[in-house]
Amino acid sequence: MGKVTVGAAVIGGAAVCAAAAYIVRFRMRNSDPYVKCGDIVKELEEKCRTPVSKLRHIADAMTVEMHAGLASEGGSKLKMLITYVDNLPTRDEQGVYYALDLGGTNFRVLRVQLAGKSGIEYKEFAEVSIPPELMVGAPEALFDYIAAELAKFIASENEKFRLLPGRQRELGFTFSFPVLQLSIDSGTLIRWTKGFSIGEMVGKDVVAELRKAMDRQGVDMRVSALVNDTVGTLAGGRYDNKDVAVAVILGTGSNAAYVERAQAIPKWHGPHPKSGEMVINMEWGNFKSSHLPLTEYDNTMDAESLNPGEQIYEKLISGMYLGELLRRVLYRMANEAALFGDMVPPKLKTQFILRTPEMCAMHHDTSPDLKVVGEKLKDILEIPNTPLSTRKIVVEVCNIIATRGARLAAAGILGILKKIGRDGFRDGAIPEIVIAMDGGLYEHYTKYRNCLEKTLEELVGDKVANHVKLILSNDGSGIGAALLAACHSQYI
Ligand code: ADP
Ligand code: MG
Repeated sequence: MGKVTVGAAVIGGAAVCAAAAYIVRFRMRNSDPYVKCGDIVKELEEKCRTPVSKLRHIADAMTVEMHAGLASEGGSKLKMLITYVDNLPTRDEQGVYYALDLGGTNFRVLRVQLAGKSGIEYKEFAEVSIPPELMVGAPEALFDYIAAELAKFIASENEKFRLLPGRQRELGFTFSFPVLQLSIDSGTLIRWTKGFSIGEMVGKDVVAELRKAMDRQGVDMRVSALVNDTVGTLAGGRYDNKDVAVAVILGTGSNAAYVERAQAIPKWHGPHPKSGEMVINMEWGNFKSSHLPLTEYDNTMDAESLNPGEQIYEKLISGMYLGELLRRVLYRMANEAALFGDMVPPKLKTQFILRTPEMCAMHHDTSPDLKVVGEKLKDILEIPNTPLSTRKIVVEVCNIIATRGARLAAAGILGILKKIGRDGFRDGAIPEIVIAMDGGLYEHYTKYRNCLEKTLEELVGDKVANHVKLILSNDGSGIGAALLAACHSQYI
């Protein structure tokens, strides 16, 4: 339907406000919608700018917050949680170990057969998606579901996996939400993130909850390590490469962990471990700084989220939110600049309808007519036959949002490197540092990943960049938890 007909129809309605609407429409008809869309894109681009100077301020703010969070409980928005992981895998580990990974869209169970220096002899896993109603229901429902899947998985163990006689199976539990750790195998939930919201669980020991469910489901297994996905990734990364000292997750949510000197943790009054080191779970998703480039889209998405005011950094950089930010920008363009013609596509009003993998597919579309973009707009938003100019605008918005996220993530990594003195020379040399990366966003969103890596190089400079490596530690979080169950085994 042409715009003229719609304008005439409105006039035909002949109410005062309809006349006002006509004037607005009339103006729009006479100005090219792409000009107005261009203005919105330009404004977005301006607000999302992340020049190196800004990124340095953000990195410095991250370092400052890290210090504050280590100094005292509640000293910072960064929890800087003590994990009780004071030793990481060494490749002396032997035997069969299980892991259970809960922390986002999917839930995984896995087992490994460890063969000392030869590494992982066998590994098997199963992945199950979590029914959304369990994310907001009763704790028993969620944990029974998990324990039942675990029971099924144990039942499928064959003779390749060799449990030593007289031993109980052991499990590392990766639970990727903020937990106040009480020991290596217990901890209480601080709050939910990433769309989970089971009020009754907050303040409870998550391992005790899991144990009860395992008892109900008849699972005989000891939970030997409670870890966070970042800590698991760090352990998995270290198993493969001794220079790994930092882990970053970019998946549904985002978080980081790193190896800290025990002496640099003033808030820790417990006995210092023999290693002199302690893994810190930063919970960096909750980082916030006045330097962060926040837009109206970020602010309204945050205000309408399950956890307003929280996880602001995560909402800028992680997979759960990038697609939703894109939707919000497109919605405004549809409303104010007729990006998709006179009608605002009804589907575009649905929160989280545009998911980050879809955004990624559109962003990576290299076909001359942006065929993938056209298909996604049609399939997801039910907008048929978009012109190339519209598709180009969509790609531009994807690029702005993903670039901002990737660059901010790089700034966060620089903040950690600064904190541990790995952003330059130390004792006359530049030490090697390897950062274990995991998460579907980092793994699959190539443009995001490349931008993050390029930005980090830019930030640390050419000389240091040769000594800073990012490695994809695929499923490190799951395997890492099994490895941590091994090096914190009840039989050691
Ligand atoms: P989780 O973070 O839920 O534990 P993953 O690490 O597998 O699980 O990350 C899944 C998230 O990664 C998805 O929610 C999505 O945001 C992002 N993701 C997955 N696949 C892609 C993709 N192809 N492109 C961009 N992002 C992706
Ligand atoms: Mg994960």
